[in-house]
Amino acid sequence: MGRTYKAVQVTKPGKLDFVERPVVEPGFGQVRLRVEACGVCHTDAFTVEGGFPGLTFPRVPGHEVIGTIEAVGPGVQGWKQGQRVGIGYMGGHCGHCISCRRGDFVNCQNQPISGVHSDGGYAETMIAQASGLAAIPGDLLPTEAAPLLCAGLTTFNGLRNSKARPGDLVAIQGVGGLGHLGIQFARRMGFKVAAIARGAEKEGLARKLGAHHYIDSIAQDPVAALQALGGARLILATAANSKSMSPLLGGLAPRGQLVVAGAGGNDPIEVNPIPLLFGTRAIEGTMTGSSLDAEDTLSFSSLQQVRPIIETLPLASAAEAYGRMMRNEARFRIVLVTGQ
Ligand SMILES: [Zn+2]
Ligand SMILES: [Zn+2]
Repeated sequence: MGRTYKAVQVTKPGKLDFVERPVVEPGFGQVRLRVEACGVCHTDAFTVEGGFPGLTFPRVPGHEVIGTIEAVGPGVQGWKQGQRVGIGYMGGHCGHCISCRRGDFVNCQNQPISGVHSDGGYAETMIAQASGLAAIPGDLLPTEAAPLLCAGLTTFNGLRNSKARPGDLVAIQGVGGLGHLGIQFARRMGFKVAAIARGAEKEGLARKLGAHHYIDSIAQDPVAALQALGGARLILATAANSKSMSPLLGGLAPRGQLVVAGAGGNDPIEVNPIPLLFGTRAIEGTMTGSSLDAEDTLSFSSLQQVRPIIETLPLASAAEAYGRMMRNEARFRIVLVTGQ
């Protein structure tokens, strides 16, 4: 191991620099990973463009990180050197705040966000809190596992924590980075799956991924289409476009839920209270998940053959990868490969 490592850091908003840094030893409760792969996620924009509360520069983005443990800090139990692990957006819960004491680790009040409050995975090595680690099943490639830690976990938890039950109509809005995984999870969880996207070109892929129905929101009104299918018990909204979510409420069955998994822009979701009242429908958000939720996502993906569709680029091409993702050119997730 060298005494330095290569990383891609945001030195000032909008600028990704390829730099060499001194290797850091893990502190109490931490491990150091030798990074193998890191997904490029739309949420990285909060780091690259700046503006996230508590963010300081320079900062290394990246929160879909797969690597092997190369150094274990003091006070770490249950993890060992050489083990392949992942760390996602939630960088590890503290274990002592009110939320943690209630077992609600996602809402830990002292949790660093990987790549925002601490340096993330656009790098050859990364320091991670042991409480944020997930074990990786042996049959998943690092490049396949990386997007499952954020895009995968978000849709997996959004589906399994909803009130929908096997056989219910579940609609996945958006066939992109999140949606293409959401369709696979929903199908394999036993739901009746409708994919909603703009235009006809994604229909073939959506059906191949497991959608029973495809709703082209340009050619037809998605509300009418969902109601014709009996109304959705759950609509998982993955598009980074709040305005497109507002009209979908009318497509819910009574007691249906609109679960918001994507965010983008500053537009609010506009809500007509009438369908909320008459039919007791609900809107709620879903936030990735805990480290054990991440492990559940990976285990389910291994068991049920759920895989992200990825493109890979070397770490040195991080700026290009980020640009492609932001221009919506990624099909469907770009993963940075490190150390090859
Ligand atoms: Zn993400
Ligand atoms: Zn906590």
